[in-house]
This record gives sequence, C-alpha cells and structure tokens, in this order.
Amino acid sequence: MATIFAITNQKGGVGKTTTTVNLAASLAATKRRILLIDLDPQGNATMGCGIDKNSVEFSIYDVLVDGRAIADTALPAPDSGFDVLPANQDLTAAEVELINEIGREFRLREAVAAVADSYDYVLIDCPPSLNMLTVNALAAADGVIIPMQCEYYALEGLSALLNTINRVTQLINPKLRIEGILRTMFDGRNSLTNHVTDELRTHFGNDLYSTVIPRNVRLAEAPSHGLPVLHYDKQSKGALAYLALAGELLRRERARTGIDTPVSGDE
Ligand code: ADP
Ligand code: MG
Repeated sequence: MATIFAITNQKGGVGKTTTTVNLAASLAATKRRILLIDLDPQGNATMGCGIDKNSVEFSIYDVLVDGRAIADTALPAPDSGFDVLPANQDLTAAEVELINEIGREFRLREAVAAVADSYDYVLIDCPPSLNMLTVNALAAADGVIIPMQCEYYALEGLSALLNTINRVTQLINPKLRIEGILRTMFDGRNSLTNHVTDELRTHFGNDLYSTVIPRNVRLAEAPSHGLPVLHYDKQSKGALAYLALAGELLRRERARTGIDTPVSGDE
C-alpha cells in the first residue's frame, strides 16, 4: 500500500515543485516505486520530469473530471525511474466543473486508491492556493510536507495552511498528519535563516526535517533539461540534499511504523 504525501504551501516559489520532483527521483533511486501527481495547472512538475505538458493526450484533468484511471493516464518520466500523472492548463477548468459534484473532495483519493498497490510512495505537487485541488490532495494524503523558505515572511500564511489542514483532519481525513517541515533555498550564513529556524523548531519540534535544501543553481537549471537534479548533476549539493531528505523520510517512516517500506527489487 502506497504512502501518500501532499507537498503543499499556498505560497508560490517556496520549492514545492522542486521538492516533489527531486524527492521522487531520490526515492526512486532507493528502488521504491514512485508516482508523482502534478496537481498544479502550471504543469511545472510535469515539464521538470521531461514530459511535454502540451502534448499529453490525457492528464490529471481527465482523472478528476471524467473518472479516467490513473493507471491508464500516468506516464514514465524519461530516464528517472518513476511515473508521472501530468497536468496542464486544462486543470484550471476542473475546479469549476466539479463544483456541483457530490464527493468532489474525494475524486483524487478514489483515483489513487485504485493504484495504491502499484506504488510505495505517491507524491502530490500542490498548486499555490488553498483551493479545491489542494483539498483533494489533503483528502487523499497520509502526510503533508511543507516546504518553507527561511525568509522574513516565511511564517506568514502558515496559520491559514495549518487551519486548512486541521479542518480537513476534522471533517474528511482523520489520518492526515504533518509529515515534515522542509527548509528550502537555505543559506546558513544569513542570520534571518537562523531566526526562522528557531521559530520553526519552537512551533514544530521534531516535525522540522533536520535535512535542509541549500540554494543551489543546479536545482534551478535541471528543470530546463527536463530532469531531476540527480540525473542532471548527481554530485551537486542539490542532488545530495534531496538524497539526504529521502533518507531522513525513510528513517522516520521506519521509526513510526516499525517496518521498513518494501523495496521493489526485493519482491
Ligand atoms: P513552487 O513550486 O513552490 O512554486 P518551485 O519549486 O517552482 O516553487 O521553485 C521556485 C523557483 O526557485 C524555481 O525557479 C526553482 O528552480 C527555484 N528553486 C527552488 N529550490 C531551489 C534551490 N534550493 N536552489 C535554487 N533554486 C531553487
Ligand atoms: Mg510549483
């Protein structure tokens, strides 16, 4: 059974897509079976995995609105060892089209349930808003990963996100938990960074990942080559940081559940 993580923060540009793509590649490198779901109409994760969002025949839109199976819609990310459920502009219409549908919050959860045995982890790249798409992601997820840039306004908006997570937990998905808070574009020389880190540790304790993702130009370059950084420059600080994050995530899972997640090569 797949464990499902929503990578979310309603702020744009905090590293959600970068984290989703590179965590997917890093977990895939440990032989876990991974599905990346692009839930942002911008389709940045889709493009960053080397899939042309404008030429795909079917996308997440068809899954949410027409009930198309994920198994028939996801595509392999070229050379990266995981699957991608692509998104593009069509997805902006989904919110409107679902508005009068009963169970609209559960469309993604139902679709993912049908492929849960085919993957070890499902990573959902959320749009930069707390809309129906994000609610679909939170309804489907076991855990939320929140990327945060350690800047002056980092904590602003966090309470709105935590409120949404609490509401979803109370009303539609009691198993949802905060999986981890991830510091992105990290610069330890900046004193503000240390201040924000202290605040995050006070608020979130052990939910704060000890792994930090440094600011690294390779991470910014890799998407234009349609590759996760691991397959673009595997020696880069960015690649090593996302491998470390995958390791920390797997250790936490093991500590919480007492079982190692299966490695597909062992089966
Ligand atoms: P979001 O999905 O939250 O909007 P992105 O992952 O698209 O954020 O990141 C925003 C921009 O910052 C992108 O251009 C991305 O390449 C760049 N970026 C993200 N993380 C890093 C990093 N650690 N170092 C350098 N650039 C980064
Ligand atoms: Mg994004």
